[in-house]
Amino acid sequence: MEKEMGKKKIIIIGGGIAGMSAGIYALKSGYEAEIYEKNAIPGGECIGWNRKGYHIDNCIHWLTGTLKGTQLYDVWKTVGALSDDTEYADIDSFYTSTYNGQKATLWNDLERTEKELISISPEDEAEIKNFIQNVKWSKQCLFPADKPMDMWGIKDYIEMGMSMADFPKVMKEFGKLSLEEYSKRFKSPLLQKLMCDYLPKTYCAYSFLVSYATMAMGNGGIPIGASLQMSLRMEKTYKDLGGKIFYNKSVSKIILNKKISTGIELNDGTVVEGDYIIPAVDTHLLFNKLLPEKYMPKNVEEAYKNPSAYPATSGFQVAFAVSENFNEGETIFIDIDPIKVGNSTFDRMYVKCYGYDKIFIKDGKQVIQTCISQTDTDYNFWKSLSKEEYSAFKEELIKTVEKRIINAFPQLEGDMDFLDAWTPLTYERYCNAYHGSYMSFVTTPFGKQIKMKGRLKGIKNLYVAGQWTSSPGGLPVAVASGKFAIQRILKSEKKSVNI
Ligand SMILES: Cc1cc2nc3c(=O)[nH]c(=O)nc-3n(C[C@H](O)[C@H](O)[C@H](O)COP(=O)(O)OP(=O)(O)OC[C@H]3O[C@@H](n4cnc5c(N)ncnc54)[C@H](O)[C@@H]3O)c2cc1C
Repeated sequence: MEKEMGKKKIIIIGGGIAGMSAGIYALKSGYEAEIYEKNAIPGGECIGWNRKGYHIDNCIHWLTGTLKGTQLYDVWKTVGALSDDTEYADIDSFYTSTYNGQKATLWNDLERTEKELISISPEDEAEIKNFIQNVKWSKQCLFPADKPMDMWGIKDYIEMGMSMADFPKVMKEFGKLSLEEYSKRFKSPLLQKLMCDYLPKTYCAYSFLVSYATMAMGNGGIPIGASLQMSLRMEKTYKDLGGKIFYNKSVSKIILNKKISTGIELNDGTVVEGDYIIPAVDTHLLFNKLLPEKYMPKNVEEAYKNPSAYPATSGFQVAFAVSENFNEGETIFIDIDPIKVGNSTFDRMYVKCYGYDKIFIKDGKQVIQTCISQTDTDYNFWKSLSKEEYSAFKEELIKTVEKRIINAFPQLEGDMDFLDAWTPLTYERYCNAYHGSYMSFVTTPFGKQIKMKGRLKGIKNLYVAGQWTSSPGGLPVAVASGKFAIQRILKSEKKSVNI
C-alpha cells in the first residue's frame, strides 16, 4: 500500500464496473490506483456463479454500447470489456409475449415487427406504426460517454442537437407517460401485455422505446462468455496497467480532515491514505455509513424519501437446467395463475433461455431463469422475515414458479432441475445494494432524473462514481462514471480531460 514516488494516489472504494473503470482511467492518466473491494472477486453486480456445474449469469441481458463507432463502445474497449473481436450472442429479437394462445415478438428487424403486430391486431395499425416510428427516432438516443455533461461546451450541445433532431418528439409524447397508460392505447390485450412485460409498468414509456431501439440498431449485444468474464477482462486490463486491487477488504469509513478526505478506514481498522478518494459504491451506503449524512445532495435525499416517485427495483430469481432442445424464443413472457411474491401479486412471468452461449450448457441441458420484479415494499417484506421464514418462503416459491413454468410449457414436466434461487436480500448482502436494487432510481412520470455532478459540497478531493450518479443506472452509467470521476480530477488539476 506504499505510494509510488511522484505519483498521486487515488483510492477507489468498490471493484464493480464503475470502480474498475475509474482505476483503469486513473492509471492511463498517470495516477497510482488502489481498489478496495469487500468481495473475493471483481464485478459487483456484473457477475455470475456456478451451481451443480452450470453457470448462472447475474447481469447482462443487454449491454448498451456494443455498436462500433459509438462513444460508449470506445469506453468499453478502453477498459478491456469489449474488443473488435468480441463475439455476441446470435439473438434476433428483444423478447416475445404470449397471451391466450397468441404470440407477439419484438424483432430486432423493425419492419418485421410492424408487419407481424399489424397482422395480429389490424385495428391497432395506426398505433403500431406510431410505435415503430418512435422506436426508429429513439435510435438517436445514444449514451454520451466522451465527458461529463457539465464539462460540455456550446459545440457539444450543437452536435448533440443535430444528431438527436427527432428524439425530442419521443420525449414530448412518451417522456411523462407510464408504460401502463401507454399500453391502454392498444386495443389488443396481447399488445397491451407486450408493452408492459419487459419493464415495470410504472417506468416512463420512453425508456422502453430507447431500450428496444438499442436492441434494434445492434447496440445492445450480449458478449459471449457472460457477465463475470467481462468483469474479469476489466480486472486484467487494470492489473496489466499496474493497478492494485485488494479483495475481501470492506471499507467502513472515509476519513475527513476538515474539507479534505485523507483516506479510508477498513473494517479491520487499517487506515489507507490517498490523495483522492473515489467511492464507487451504492450511494445509500455512502451517505449513511461511509460519510456523514449531511453530505448527501438534496435531490438524492428527496429521492430516498419518496419511493413511490423514485422506486428501486430488484427481483426474486430462480434458475433451472432443462433440455437444450427447449427453445421457445430467448426471452418469453407467459400468463400465469397469480403468485404473491413479497407484497405484490403477479400474473405475468418470463422464462429466459441461455442456450445461446455454450457457457450455460452442460450434458445436453441449458440454464433457464426467471425473474419476478420486486420493489421497495417487497424488499421490506423479505426483510421482515426470520431466517427460517425466509428459507421456507423461498422453498415454497421455487415450487410454485416451477409449476407455473410447466403449466405454460408441459414438455418441461420431469425435465427441470432446480439450480438456485435468490432475492433482493442477496444483492443487499453481496453488494450493499439499497433495497437489493439492480439499477439506480427508476425514472417514473412522478420523478425527475437524478443526476450527481460527482463533487460533494464541503469535500475537496472526493469524486463520486457508480451507477447511482445518474438514474436509471445500469452498466453504461457505471462504466462512464468511472471515466468521468477521473476527468473531474484532471480538470481540477487543470490537465486535459481528453482521455
Ligand atoms: C439481475 C441484474 C440484471 C442486470 N441486467 C443489466 C443489463 O442487462 N444491462 C445493464 O446495463 N445493466 C444491468 N444490470 C445493472 C448492472 O449490473 C449495474 O448497473 C452495474 O453492474 C453497477 O455497477 P457499479 O460499479 O456502479 O455498482 P456495483 O456493481 O454495485 O459495484 C459496487 C462494488 O462495491 C463493493 N462494495 C460495496 N460496499 C463496499 C464496502 N463497504 N467496501 C468495499 N467494497 C464495497 C460491492 O461489493 C461491489 O463490488 C443488472 C443488474 C442485475 C442485478
